[in-house]
Amino acid sequence: MKIWTLIVAAIFCLSFSGCFERVVEPEDVFGVIRRGETYSPASKMIDSWYAVEAIDTQTFAINEPKSSQYNTSYLIIGDERAVMFDAGSSERPAGSKSMRQVAALYTDKPITLILSHFHYDHIYDASKFETGVTLIDRPEIRAGATNGRYTISALESVDAEALPLKVAGFIADGDVIDLGHRTLDVLNLPGHTTESIVLIDGARNQTFTGDFTYKHLGGIIAFAPASDLLSYKANSDRLLQLTNIDMQFFGAHGIPRFGRDWVSLMSIELGKIVRGKPDYRYVAHYLAPGLPVRLQQNEDMYIYTTPLVDPPLFWSKWTLLLVVVFGALVFYLIYRVARPLFVAARG
Ligand SMILES: [Zn+2]
Repeated sequence: MKIWTLIVAAIFCLSFSGCFERVVEPEDVFGVIRRGETYSPASKMIDSWYAVEAIDTQTFAINEPKSSQYNTSYLIIGDERAVMFDAGSSERPAGSKSMRQVAALYTDKPITLILSHFHYDHIYDASKFETGVTLIDRPEIRAGATNGRYTISALESVDAEALPLKVAGFIADGDVIDLGHRTLDVLNLPGHTTESIVLIDGARNQTFTGDFTYKHLGGIIAFAPASDLLSYKANSDRLLQLTNIDMQFFGAHGIPRFGRDWVSLMSIELGKIVRGKPDYRYVAHYLAPGLPVRLQQNEDMYIYTTPLVDPPLFWSKWTLLLVVVFGALVFYLIYRVARPLFVAARG
């Protein structure tokens, strides 16, 4: 009897979510580029998996054009040290170079590995960096780092498996990393996830944003377990305050480079959400098949979220009333559909 209830409920939910529009088809998430193609002649395939763009002689965008989310990691080199910002998408074929091996093609200086955040598609080759990973200094992360190791949990990575890593050290929001005649300002900007890191090279007008913001028609993801809309809005404003109009931004998905206007647009749309004046619609997202999510859209800026991310924004009395009424109707419908099946099964 219980099995029947579950089956009927599952069928109902799946058909319900199937009614929602998919705004961007998986094959279209890259916009003007196609999966497997480089986004510009400046990005050149170096083997069958990686393409690299030299942003300048000491800054390299390492693309994975065949990855399903068109990932880019960054190698940022100074006169004495380098930073590797992210460690690969987890989709590279067996036998291909690790992100550590690719970095070694461009620098022989000591490399500090910093992960933009802990999602599975940014951390794959983290264990290949011999000195370990440098983590953002947050109380919960410090508390989780014991005996020189930190395990990125399955919940943090949104993956099936946990990833244990050696800890090289910590960096805090506001720190300045000195690479030798090149410095990076460290920002911890929760929003997409709590541990999200953004690095700013003010002298070169380069900001590396990870998944905090990127230009990719798959949209901005604010429905991850650690997404937080209030922080997202506050931190997008902070990022705008800390950068000027000439700043070039480099994201982790899609076409890497974009201007400050894109961050402004994200901030405007997040502003509508947190002020309670969004024009959401419910759609399906290619990363969350079968689950409807809320979309805030302005031209090519898509922000996907869910009521589960930010209960204070969601549980206004009218929304609560609507959910209760709608929920009761759904359960009644399931009951009416399932009851004859129970009776038949019993009889
Ligand atoms: Zn992410």
